[in-house]
Amino acid sequence: MENTAKPSNPLSQKDFMERPQLEALQFERLQKIVKHAYEHSPFYTKAFDAKGLKPEDIRCLADIVKLPFTQKTDLRDNYPYGLNAVPRSEIVRLHASSGTTGKPIVVSYTRGDLETWSETAARCFLMGGVTEEDIAVIGYGYSLFTGGMGAHQGMERVGATVIPQGGGNTEKLCMLIQDLGVTTICCTPSFFIHLMEVAEKLGIDLRKSTLRHGFFGAEPWTDEMRQRMEQGTGIKTHDIFGLSEIMGPGVAGGCDGRPGMHIFEDHYFPEIVDPQTGEQLPPGCEGELVLTTLDKWAMPLLRYRTHDITRLTYERCSCGRTLVHMDPIRRRSDDMLIVRGVNLFPSQVEALLLQVKGIVPHYELVVTREGAMDDLEVRVEVTPELFGDQVSVLESLRKEISLKIKSMIGINAKITLVEPGSIARSAGKTKHVIDKRQK
Ligand code: AMP
Ligand code: ZN
Repeated sequence: MENTAKPSNPLSQKDFMERPQLEALQFERLQKIVKHAYEHSPFYTKAFDAKGLKPEDIRCLADIVKLPFTQKTDLRDNYPYGLNAVPRSEIVRLHASSGTTGKPIVVSYTRGDLETWSETAARCFLMGGVTEEDIAVIGYGYSLFTGGMGAHQGMERVGATVIPQGGGNTEKLCMLIQDLGVTTICCTPSFFIHLMEVAEKLGIDLRKSTLRHGFFGAEPWTDEMRQRMEQGTGIKTHDIFGLSEIMGPGVAGGCDGRPGMHIFEDHYFPEIVDPQTGEQLPPGCEGELVLTTLDKWAMPLLRYRTHDITRLTYERCSCGRTLVHMDPIRRRSDDMLIVRGVNLFPSQVEALLLQVKGIVPHYELVVTREGAMDDLEVRVEVTPELFGDQVSVLESLRKEISLKIKSMIGINAKITLVEPGSIARSAGKTKHVIDKRQK
């Protein structure tokens, strides 16, 4: 049965706008942001001119298909500020996410953009039932990664008491949960399972703790993980989705109605396209999520190809919200891996390996999950000369690669040097990723 009771918080009431009113707002914002992008972002001026397109050509929401797509590579090629549309003095924050090769992609925010981000993250937490009575610990990293700051700002906006713990330091986190009466945690789902294991080893029963909500995102997670987390701790789990390019965590959030999430489409306009052809697909079809930022001023992104595969439905949800509903995100249309919450492209590893003397560019990335945490092994072939060389030479080569990966990508990977020709090829090509984690 549909829940018609709207929450009292004015922020949450935005989730219940009637569709015609919402669509009018989206169109008004779309027109403004398209004009802004065209007039102030050199990248979009060029892209529009190349298509002979003017902002006035966008006469209704459906005209969005006339706009050019934006890809991750566009952010990389225009690194670091080429997509910005405001003077540097108006930019108050930078974050970054991994690009497809060595350099990260940089995202800029104005003060107003940070406001919007806080608002949508807050709406996500309110949807899950957080109030100003809650004590929330943030277990995402506070860094260039958007997780820590994004969740932090959203919780502050709700008015909860926020503990900026950051990633890692699991034993201390267990202590904080117990001593400070923490009711809510935000972290990656795999880190939470790790936390459960550590708590058990320490003899702490999380079921008896004050913890009652967990907001998990930044990587895909399964129903099995959800059950394990809820049964093991008695908390209610909530999904939270976002990506740095668009804003950060809080682009979409889970409701009580069903698995999946509502997209805050008054700020982020979603489409589903065929990942191969780029053609827009009707509601209900599975395809690649494409997002347009409707009111992000520092770095507006039009029709950004997320590579996340999902489905959208527009029928009013059983929770009463009118916002579009998106299926949980379980896979991508590209080869990006998320290992311990860190985005990783095989091409990034390849670019690093090619800098190392004695390495043949035949490699594979093997991802496993031992207990809760992901492990990455990089198996790479060395030249025949080197393979016959002394153990100490191979050992220093192994260390060199390991350090490079740690410093560029931030992951401690196990490096295995293998004999030339030992990595399987199909039709002459190496399959670069072997993901053994349970889907
Ligand atoms: P980043 O830009 O580092 O925040 O990474 C964004 C990517 O992380 C997204 O495009 C998704 O592939 C993934 N991601 C983020 N949140 C979720 C979630 N709740 N479920 C599944 N994947 C997610
Ligand atoms: Zn709902």
